[in-house]
Amino acid sequence: MNQAESERLESILCQKGYSPVDSAETADLVLLVSCAVRQGAEDRITNRLSLLRRLKNQNPSMKIALTGCMVEEDLALMKKQYPMVDYFFSAGAMPDFLDRLPADILPQKPGVSVNVPIIQGCDNFCSYCIVPYRRGRETSRPLDAIVSEVAELVNRGAREVTLLGQNVNAYGHDLSQPADLADLLLALNGVKGLKRIRFLTNHPKDMSPRLIEAMATLDKVCPSLNLPAQAGDDEILARMRRGYRISDYRTLVESIRNKVPGISLTTDIIVGFPGETAEQFANTRRLIEDIRFDAVHLAAYSPRPGTEAAEKFPDDVSREEKAGRLADLEALQTKLATEINSGLVGSVVEVLVEGEGRDKWRGRERSGKLVFFKGKRDQVSNSDLKGRLVPVKITKSGPWSLQGDPVETLKENK
Ligand code: SAH
Ligand code: SF4
Repeated sequence: MNQAESERLESILCQKGYSPVDSAETADLVLLVSCAVRQGAEDRITNRLSLLRRLKNQNPSMKIALTGCMVEEDLALMKKQYPMVDYFFSAGAMPDFLDRLPADILPQKPGVSVNVPIIQGCDNFCSYCIVPYRRGRETSRPLDAIVSEVAELVNRGAREVTLLGQNVNAYGHDLSQPADLADLLLALNGVKGLKRIRFLTNHPKDMSPRLIEAMATLDKVCPSLNLPAQAGDDEILARMRRGYRISDYRTLVESIRNKVPGISLTTDIIVGFPGETAEQFANTRRLIEDIRFDAVHLAAYSPRPGTEAAEKFPDDVSREEKAGRLADLEALQTKLATEINSGLVGSVVEVLVEGEGRDKWRGRERSGKLVFFKGKRDQVSNSDLKGRLVPVKITKSGPWSLQGDPVETLKENK
């Protein structure tokens, strides 16, 4: 979400006559898009701000703007905490320090793969999470607005869209013309020139059969799903206020895998939630072993002031214990991902090329895995492969990416 917001803000500033520079030393304006989901993320911004304060002492005309989830409603308090910041605006809001926004806030030259927010905020209040406090209640963007925005981005060169929301499964319930994510996918599937549709994140308690059906039937919708479990233990899940039991989660995964064979599943896990015993942690470990996710995003629990968990439960799993549990799951997931990916060696996958690395093309196959392949530029037209779909035979695999060679002469597939 922050990446999407940064891209938009960059586009707005460029149209206002700003242009990007490589370092803060030469900047007239430094804009920080902050994250507050864990203390570590906040600390990074706080450190950056103290460096910037020194720069500002040397160059008093430099302006600093802060947005993202660190920005609280009480601006007087913010100003007191961060006196070096000239402008604050809330996460997802527009920069109100500009006198007028340009009419067109989309990037003029978008990447092959673009992020498009479809719903802001969150109504869930998981007990550990700061997001609902900083991003407010769920607010969906009208379906037509999203479809025309995606069509315009495709016009300007995009080929893949990732629809974003804290819980995309809640999309549309608040609109005057109610719609759901499946309706949106169906509409987007008709956008000419768009090759692929992805979305994240899906809350497990809100996965509808209609959505699974849409994933199974719409040709542009990619077989990948980020379905955060957060924990593999019922007592922890209840105290997290996640709204499902682990048996529900397992049943859901089974039905998704039946309907969408070969789907790539990723998840988010928090270790060291207050009171997490060795046994409860072992349940989470077992879930990861049993499901065999394609990727797992791991985090150590970090108490967020004002959230239910931080107010009610002491943060009683020691720092060392959290680090040990993290390292354990990291090693487990590296092993599992290595096994899963090695199963792809020898197969041909369809890669949407996103760019050129040092000597290789880089892109993703349909389920979202990163693929690198060598190969001359398209021999027929000697043109850039960026934005094209290329069949690639996988020759090598690792836990985080795949390597291969392009197969057959490249067809024109604009
Ligand atoms: N809306 C998404 C997640 C948004 S936050 C969902 O429902 O899962 C992204 C991830 O940060 C979460 O999945 C969670 O794993 C992690 N996270 C959130 N709050 C946290 C906290 N207080 N401590 C540690 N990790 C946290
Ligand atoms: Fe946070 Fe839960 Fe909302 Fe995700 S669903 S943003 S974890 S409150």
